[in-house]
Amino acid sequence: MTQTLTLFSPLDGWAAPLAETPDAVFAERMLGDGVAIDPTGALLCAPCDGVVLSVHHTGHAVSVRSVSGVEVLMHIGLETVGLSGEGFEVLAAAGQPVRVGDALVRFDMDIIARRAKSLITPVIVTNGDAFFVSTHVEGRAVRVGDPLMTLTPMSAMAAAEAAAGGEARRQVAVTHGHGLHARPAAVLANAAKGLTAVTHVEFGERRASARSPVAVMSLGVRGGDVVTLSAVGEDAVAAVEVLARVIEDQINAMPAAVAPEPEVPSQPTGAQVVPLTTLKGVRAAPGLAIGAAVRLDEPEIEVSLVASGVTEETEALEAAIAAVRGQIAERARAGSADQRAILDAHLAFLEDPELVEAAREAICRGDSAGVAWRGAMQAHVAVLEGLGDQRLAERADDLKDLERQVLLALSGEAAAERALPDNAILLAEDLLPSQLIGLDAARIAGICLARGGPTSHVAILASTLNIPAVVAAGPRVMAVQDGALLILDGDAGLLQVAPRPAEIEAAQSRLAQARARKRTVQAAAHEAARTADGVRIEVFANVASVAEARAAAATGAEGCGLLRTEFLFLDRQAAPSEDEQAREYQAVAEALAGRPVIVRTLDAGGDKPLAYLPLPPEDNPALGLRGVRVGLWRPDLLKTQLRAILRTAPEGQCRIMLPMVASLSELRAARALADGAAAELGCASRPQVGIMVETPAAAVTADLLAAEADFLSIGTNDLSQYALAMDRTNAELAGQIDALHPAVLRLIGHAAAGGAKHGRMVAVCGALASDLAAVPILIGLGVTELSGAASAVPEIKALVRGLTLPACHDLADRAINQVSAEAVRALTLATDLPLQSGAQP
Ligand code: PEP
Ligand code: MG
Repeated sequence: MTQTLTLFSPLDGWAAPLAETPDAVFAERMLGDGVAIDPTGALLCAPCDGVVLSVHHTGHAVSVRSVSGVEVLMHIGLETVGLSGEGFEVLAAAGQPVRVGDALVRFDMDIIARRAKSLITPVIVTNGDAFFVSTHVEGRAVRVGDPLMTLTPMSAMAAAEAAAGGEARRQVAVTHGHGLHARPAAVLANAAKGLTAVTHVEFGERRASARSPVAVMSLGVRGGDVVTLSAVGEDAVAAVEVLARVIEDQINAMPAAVAPEPEVPSQPTGAQVVPLTTLKGVRAAPGLAIGAAVRLDEPEIEVSLVASGVTEETEALEAAIAAVRGQIAERARAGSADQRAILDAHLAFLEDPELVEAAREAICRGDSAGVAWRGAMQAHVAVLEGLGDQRLAERADDLKDLERQVLLALSGEAAAERALPDNAILLAEDLLPSQLIGLDAARIAGICLARGGPTSHVAILASTLNIPAVVAAGPRVMAVQDGALLILDGDAGLLQVAPRPAEIEAAQSRLAQARARKRTVQAAAHEAARTADGVRIEVFANVASVAEARAAAATGAEGCGLLRTEFLFLDRQAAPSEDEQAREYQAVAEALAGRPVIVRTLDAGGDKPLAYLPLPPEDNPALGLRGVRVGLWRPDLLKTQLRAILRTAPEGQCRIMLPMVASLSELRAARALADGAAAELGCASRPQVGIMVETPAAAVTADLLAAEADFLSIGTNDLSQYALAMDRTNAELAGQIDALHPAVLRLIGHAAAGGAKHGRMVAVCGALASDLAAVPILIGLGVTELSGAASAVPEIKALVRGLTLPACHDLADRAINQVSAEAVRALTLATDLPLQSGAQP
């Protein structure tokens, strides 16, 4: 039996459908479902037993929460806030317990009838996400205390749906290092909006509508947490699956913010006497800058406290939100990929139903649009700041940013254009993403904030704009005079105020070196890399899309050392056809204009689940059906992929690479399929088939594998995971799983020696290839091709040119005899090799 609750009439009058209210906000149920009463009596009474939640100071709106949790708003007349309390006598106070029929407000019907828009009093259930209005009285007279509406708790509906098979629940692990923060929550909300089922994310005791990015963010879910997804409705099972896929495939695979990990700022306490000349903060974006202080003191925005009426204020708020949405969309179109990701999250917040509803509700209670918007935003800011999670607290900046932009739009003022001098070092209490995007980045030499955090969106933007930045430098930042000469060291997290001539000179010479280095590095980015003693090292890039292939060619990559094909068709519910795949591989090959492309066959399973390829449940997926094992388990899929790769022209530009190989038998089986496909397609020569060395088994038997593989490419991400027995997706272990561990280096050495025995090329395509500290060691261990991030290609090539093979051998010999990865890193720092990227010019 589904439980029902009753609300009773708070007035004597005529009950009418809400749709007949001459005010769109109520008529269109923007605030919730209910009944409109045209009063014949002048006393508003409690509609249930419960407690008074709020009484507007003008007396025209009261809300009550019933003992069962139903929240009811009663708005006496329309546009009555303008009466400023005239004609209303408040008889109850917020927090007061009430019984059905207790008097709440006495009102003067004559004043309202003459001076307000209407006497019609909407009685609304405002927590419609928890209670559903199942029946209501309409088209007849009611007296105080008559039944007015019956309600069904959503939980009871869900139970009824469940009995009818309409509810689904599923647990899913959030492995994205930063948890469900702004961008993931926005991605999830977008997916939820496309579903008809009512979906929620549950974490511990708390539950949030999946459509509300702010509510999801406020759950405080961190990387490594497991959440429960629930859905009620006809397509509940599919809805839960869709959301789980979004978390597993899109959110967990999102790159973590590029800003560095937080450090604890060693800000001096008030009692210590510290000269103003050096302020210590936290490094947020690397690089060095010399420039003049430009203080950004943001003036307070004037918010109108006077509301003109529910309709006007609602319309004003909607217009302001729409205007800000337009501005953000325009900036997103013109921005870089990183800027777009942040701005898209802002757009999702602006559409957050909970935020917008909270503001609309406040307007209905009599607040002006500005007061309502500020209140709604600040409530969520307080929740985020109170979660005790630094990253989520930093996301509060995004809400403050939107608060400010909408208030500015409401005030009719445009954000003041700030003309910056050249080499400006911006000083601010805090800086919001839109403020930074709105400034002329070409004139900004650096940023130093009194507050803020190293993983905030403003820090990420500064990094992508190549602007050195220091955050959390304390309140003394704002004591620095406008125009003061400053040195900002983004690497050390320091701001030097009015430096001495010798300090300026030293900084200038560091800057000049960095500029010169960057120029040299970029000028030679398209030339082949050879060590100083003439050993050729190929520098390739890893690619996961056609756009990345273009970027790789532009940065000087000599080819693609790893095409992660599973990422080309991530959002698919059905396997891509041979033709679709062939088109995609052809586009990548063309983007790389004749350069070699190593296409890895589908690496599904483990940390890369694919929606269109459900695998049987496993206790330990990292050790289960994944990589080449999946291809041999579904040879039909592998064969289709091999044919698609072999169809790309010109023949031979694309080579085949098998992931997660552990035994020769796997290579032989896959090779047979490739040979079969080549014969069917009439290829002129036998396809090149190489293997990834990602398992310790493959590393230690590399000599056996290399006898039959055309090339070897070491996947250091997985090799570290399996060698160190540390799950690469476990946030707790993220600080320890370092591929420079001597155990991993020794396995790389084995693999290189095994390849060399048969004259095979041995590459590294894991993340270690883009780690400048590792490059000389890898070369010393016998690796001759490095395939890393496209952006790292110029620096890797430049570094290679400064090395000699004997120096690399020597370093590698010493590295494999260290006792830990930290010791290896310390060793690389102690060399005089140029292993750090240059300071930002
Ligand atoms: C690796 O494991 O190092 C690798 C390159 O493959 P992926 O990161 O795609 O598993
Ligand atoms: Mg791998």
